[in-house]
Amino acid sequence: QLANVGVIGMAVMGSNLARNLARNGHRVAVYNRTTAKTDAVIAEHGHEGDFRPAAELADFVASLERPRRIIIMVKAGAGTDATIDSLLPLLDEGDIVVDGGNAFFEDTRRREEKLRGLGFHFVGAGISGGEVGALEGPSIMPGGSAESYEALGPILESISAKVDGEPCCTYIGTDGAGHFVKMVHNGIEYADMQFIGEAYELLKALGLSHEEMADTFAAWNEGDLDSYLIEITSEVLRKVDPATGGPLVEVIVDAAGMKGTGTWTVQSALELGTPVNTIAESVFARAISSSPELRRAAQAALHGPAGTIGVEDRARFLDQIRQALWASKVVAYAQGLDEIRMAADEYGWDINVGEVAKIWRGGCIIRAKLLERIRSEYAAGQLTTLLEAPSVAAGLADAQDAWRTVVAEAVRGGVPVPGFSAALAHYDQARAPRLNAALTQGLRDYFGAHTYRRVDREGTFHVNWSTDGAEVEATDSH
Ligand code: NDP
Repeated sequence: QLANVGVIGMAVMGSNLARNLARNGHRVAVYNRTTAKTDAVIAEHGHEGDFRPAAELADFVASLERPRRIIIMVKAGAGTDATIDSLLPLLDEGDIVVDGGNAFFEDTRRREEKLRGLGFHFVGAGISGGEVGALEGPSIMPGGSAESYEALGPILESISAKVDGEPCCTYIGTDGAGHFVKMVHNGIEYADMQFIGEAYELLKALGLSHEEMADTFAAWNEGDLDSYLIEITSEVLRKVDPATGGPLVEVIVDAAGMKGTGTWTVQSALELGTPVNTIAESVFARAISSSPELRRAAQAALHGPAGTIGVEDRARFLDQIRQALWASKVVAYAQGLDEIRMAADEYGWDINVGEVAKIWRGGCIIRAKLLERIRSEYAAGQLTTLLEAPSVAAGLADAQDAWRTVVAEAVRGGVPVPGFSAALAHYDQARAPRLNAALTQGLRDYFGAHTYRRVDREGTFHVNWSTDGAEVEATDSH
């Protein structure tokens, strides 16, 4: 009997995914450009299931039943293109090629169009959960033709994480939809981590020990903030460095790395014209952390409060930080889901946002209790934005006094909270009956004759600012 699925790429993600498939009863063909890697995986894990290792790509392809289901897990970018190119002459009509790497969705759109033209299916599948997720059950976001999902979906669903017995894998939409949703997942992950970082800095500013901070996050993880990232924050804060005997986090260089998905999320949002200031601030926070020259120069020149916060009621302020963290998190999820809705309009994807929330409940890095509420709110009715959902709006209303207090105290104490304040600014902008954009329009008309519309009359107008100051009906040429 031929293999029913194949995996190309035996680095950490591909090998763990192949093992997950084999453990779930699939007959898994495996291949890696460098054969030694395949051999090592089989030597160590071959007993876990039915693997069909191949040293040559042609043998790998020949070992698969048709339509072939081939999952590529190689280095994103040139690695993916090179792998696809070497596969093409070996495929037959109707074969399904899956890219499970972190591809940029525009690359996925390009590859999908090319392979569709050749009679193959190309599926861009976002896979989240890191290496443990790949092995034990990731969240999977596949995009491509609906037809390909019929052949592929059951296999992916069988290896995905499960929540309440339901797989954390669902068909997202055509071409780049899956990778777009995975990209936004990562953008939200950036914001989540930035908010957690700000909460940590605030706890530090209050004078908590790392043990107390770890206990605080562990306690928060019992309530509305219950999530994977809050859970592991507690563990990281508790970790003692054997060399110094102090907290590990205090000897880690405070320069955050990134691989690009957060930046892509913001770039795409800029192009779509949808506000994701929480995610943008998170990307910029990593950027400033990784700008040693700027920081050195500024540290020498700039003065301000020392970054400590003194409050009368510490327990109360701790709870206010918790509420600010929750409210900010809600705004980041809302902004990410808004971006998905905007992209669906732009690219013609029929994305069910509630289903996206559903498959993020398990397996992925941003898995959180909040996602169940988001899922049920989207299931209950059509939403333009998550912020209007009844339980969400009520929750934010409850949290907002605490949220404002935390931002105000942080600003006073010189503790940077770009994420919390961006989220709060979004909340206040989104609910404002009038925005300062009216003045912006006035200024644009003044210096560039860009015209404006009026609240009380149809039409487009312009003031002759430099001559008689009269308002005139603008013509199309303006
Ligand atoms: P890497 O990104 O480190 O890539 C290594 C693999 O790519 C090896 O199998 C390597 O083959 C192959 N490769 C690299 N260049 C080429 C090429 N030009 N032609 C053919 N094969 C090539 O592996 P990971 O397992 O870390 O990640 C795989 C994919 O999964 C990436 O797209 C990554 O972004 C994504 N991902 C990773 C996560 C993680 O936690 N690591 C989480 C979610 C997604 P060889 O052995 O011959 O060099």
